[in-house]
Amino acid sequence: MNRSQAAIRVSELKNAINEHNKKYYVLNAPAISDFEFDMLLQELNTLERMFPHLITEDSPTQTVGSDISTESRAFRQYPHKNPMLSLSNTYSREALAEFHNRIAKTTDRDVEYVCELKFDGTAICLTYKNGQLFRALTRGDGTVGDDVTRNVERIKSIPTQLSPVSSGQIPWPHEFEIRGEILMPFSSFRELNALKEENGETPFANPRNAAAGTLKLLSADEVERRSLDCFLYHLIADIPGIDTHWQAMEAALQWGFPISKHRKLCRDLDQINEFLDHWDTERTGLRVATDGVVIKVNDFSLQRSLGMTAKSPRWATAYKFKAQQAATRLLSVDFQVGRTGAVTPVANLQPVLLSGTTVKRASLHNADQIALHDIRLGDTVFVEKGGEIIPKVVGVDLEARPEDTVPFRYITHCPECGTLLERDPEEAKHFCPNRWGCPPQIKGRIEHFMSRKAMNILGGEALVEQLYSKGMVKDPSDLYDLNPDVLRSLDNWGDRSTENLLKSIEASRSVPFHRFLYAIGIPYVGETTAKYLASHFGSLDNLRNAPEEELTQAPEIGEKISSSIIQYFRDQRILIMLERLRAAGLPFSQSADESARVSDKLGGKQLVISGNFSHSREEMKKLIESHGGKVISAISGQVDYLLAGEKPGPAKLQKATKLNIPVINEADFLRLTGEIPPEGTVFEAEQQTTLF
Ligand SMILES: [Zn+2]
Repeated sequence: MNRSQAAIRVSELKNAINEHNKKYYVLNAPAISDFEFDMLLQELNTLERMFPHLITEDSPTQTVGSDISTESRAFRQYPHKNPMLSLSNTYSREALAEFHNRIAKTTDRDVEYVCELKFDGTAICLTYKNGQLFRALTRGDGTVGDDVTRNVERIKSIPTQLSPVSSGQIPWPHEFEIRGEILMPFSSFRELNALKEENGETPFANPRNAAAGTLKLLSADEVERRSLDCFLYHLIADIPGIDTHWQAMEAALQWGFPISKHRKLCRDLDQINEFLDHWDTERTGLRVATDGVVIKVNDFSLQRSLGMTAKSPRWATAYKFKAQQAATRLLSVDFQVGRTGAVTPVANLQPVLLSGTTVKRASLHNADQIALHDIRLGDTVFVEKGGEIIPKVVGVDLEARPEDTVPFRYITHCPECGTLLERDPEEAKHFCPNRWGCPPQIKGRIEHFMSRKAMNILGGEALVEQLYSKGMVKDPSDLYDLNPDVLRSLDNWGDRSTENLLKSIEASRSVPFHRFLYAIGIPYVGETTAKYLASHFGSLDNLRNAPEEELTQAPEIGEKISSSIIQYFRDQRILIMLERLRAAGLPFSQSADESARVSDKLGGKQLVISGNFSHSREEMKKLIESHGGKVISAISGQVDYLLAGEKPGPAKLQKATKLNIPVINEADFLRLTGEIPPEGTVFEAEQQTTLF
């Protein structure tokens, strides 16, 4: 390769890597596997070593990927005290041996390493002051991170308040940083994706993206519901008596931090390799995703003398496991049409055993991915199952290609209704625009309306299929005109099920207004946005009649959602359906109770008030109650917060401090309850694109 060829390839690689970095860190939707990504980066590295004049400061080899969401600025950003670097990584044992040799050369002593599992989540940096969680920052671009403290406080395994240490133990320092990985356990991941599918939303590709996406949500309640977990692995503090990484982790464990027990002190390469061999297979049994092992020099003084490059420390490296792959024949491709009209190609495969399960079907993503890999019917394809649950086709064994194959022709028309497909340029997906005549879209919307978080009407897919095929339900409003006698005559649908169905339909007439607003499926209006709209507008008519400027200018809603709301109410068919739902007695506005209850942010929390506030005592009490909290008079272990105004009672303050009860001031309280939103709050357009 000559200089000009190299320059062209380097620029291609940089663009591709930057694009994939954005998909990975910002959009949380990677398009290629980690392995493919690392190979691109390695190629760039090699070329830059051969042609050093091509290295630029902004090359992806010189920077770390950034997760800062520049578009929305939904979170306040703070600089990292110490830069958050990434680790160099390798897939080969030889490179690991080189890593060891390089370090061994710099010292006369034997080098001790700590091997730890590399958890596949999203990086977090926690700062504690006086034993209290002060701030949680994402990696961001390594220098500046997003402040996600409010969300991190809702992760159970992360202590918000450290307990005093017992005698003989090393006390935690007045101020320190500890870093680690936020994770979504497989069980929560499966639950979340099942729910997303039920809601017609795009499921997360893997637990790592689900964890990263969840951490950036604007609703801390939703973060809590998704039960994230965490493992910490890096303590940054100068503490007398702690000279090694191992000692630091043992101390952090005693202070109450979640530190993985799957780590080992290794004194040579053989011991490291043993650890790798063990976990390469054992890791499949863990409840969280891992993708390798991190090997760190144990001794802090040796770490310091080794130092770091611009991008990563020289005293640590990551050995990554290859995702488990299998090769098998691609028999045929099915095209599934979802509630939103999106078309998903699914591969039917010759059954093959892959990490303990038989795989018959795998995702093919979209037309672009099929074309990129030139995947053809009859090909031997590689199927991969990384941290993901759904296996995917990642490539083709070209040498095994039969002679008579032809390039794959993507469908042009909807397999369900025959309509010419359209392409969504943002999603790289095809979709069927026939919203009112395409059966899976119609059925999907009815299922969404009936789903648990919407109207909670029993029945599910099988019932909707029957009702639809018999012409009994064409849109949700038909559910309220069902004839019990006809229901009883349905296949496998006895008196008992009919009773239960009718009961749940009856009960659905009194769901809270925000759930009805979510159920009617305004595109991009998910649960959280529906709650906001319900409390802001109070009724469906107010929302519908809101002047266009009020919607487009509401900073909380954003352009995508507001224009979608306007479009929604312009559709005559929707207006007819809504009138029928109104006649059926569905909640078109908030009840008096709901309007008084502003939020559930303090749901079940007990507060003690002390001192003077800008509002009267009585007003503060009402405010607390409107957010679901309860005011009590005396401090005890049961109290969640002491809300201290000016000149709080010293006895109360003292007792609260003694019992480790968080003391908050009026401004903290208003932020906590959302009375004053964090600066720049914008509701994300939730990934929900139902169209009635
Ligand atoms: Zn269709």
